[in-house]
Amino acid sequence: MSKELEFPRLVAIETTNRCNAHCKFCPNNSLARNRRVMDDDLFKKIIEDCKEFPLPAIEPFLQGEPFMDPKILDRLAYINEQLPNTALRLYSNGAALSPAKSDALRELNIDKLYISLNTINKEKYEDVVGLPFEHTLENVRALCASSPKGPVAKVITLRITLVDNTTKEEVEAFKDLCNELGVRHMISGLFNYKGDIPATLPVPDFPCEHIDRLDILSNGNTTLCCMDQEGEYGWGDVINHSVLEVFNSQAACYVREMQRSGRRKDLTPCKECNLFWPSFSHMPTLQKARHALAYVKYFTKYRPLALHTNEEK
Ligand code: SF4
Repeated sequence: MSKELEFPRLVAIETTNRCNAHCKFCPNNSLARNRRVMDDDLFKKIIEDCKEFPLPAIEPFLQGEPFMDPKILDRLAYINEQLPNTALRLYSNGAALSPAKSDALRELNIDKLYISLNTINKEKYEDVVGLPFEHTLENVRALCASSPKGPVAKVITLRITLVDNTTKEEVEAFKDLCNELGVRHMISGLFNYKGDIPATLPVPDFPCEHIDRLDILSNGNTTLCCMDQEGEYGWGDVINHSVLEVFNSQAACYVREMQRSGRRKDLTPCKECNLFWPSFSHMPTLQKARHALAYVKYFTKYRPLALHTNEEK
């Protein structure tokens, strides 16, 4: 274990890797791992571990759809209760987030809710996502509606993904829908899942945001990030080790050091990965400035997001 302990800024917990959608570009479709829901004991052990350090944010999501976990509402309430100072963020495709579940969320303290629609063109949605569009839209309308019980989350963001055949009209219609519903929009480029799927955006030089978070799979193993869907490059397990031990393991420190020192392109699998969310933490000022410059150049040249969002990550 390293002498100077680092704390993750975010812990993501895959409470289930089951998904109700079949998004054509998502590696969840071909997951080799068993489909499962995380055991209660393991879930509670992770939350207990997270009480040992100041944790800014927690996301019960990785591969899979959180609302395919039959215990998700209880688990969200448990996080609120046990980690009252940690921001709770949720991601969902919205299809299993029924109006009744949305109402239950209003009783909780959800900081940010992201709904990934991929597109709002009905034909494309049903083709790409494999779910009935109208049903998802009804759920989305219900969760965005105002209620005397309060909002479902402090900030709600709807997201679509830019793919080759995304049209300007689709983007504009999506923005109009978000304005009508009074929520934020995010329109993001497609990640290549560490080179597993084709995507046009190149590999950046700056460190990626995943290096200072810990992603935990439903079986208790950790994974490098959400691009590492099978946990091939994980840092150890949180069954026999604590969250802090794993985050400060030799493997984790090595990845952080390689990325922070500008050697992302010498690191497997990061050298093939185009994830463009940056990390500027835990580095000297000069190094930070160099990475910030590379980040600005990348976003200016490739515009993976900047032109298409009013959401601040
Ligand atoms: S750069 Fe590496 S750590 Fe970051 S998302 Fe890609 S594969 Fe994961």
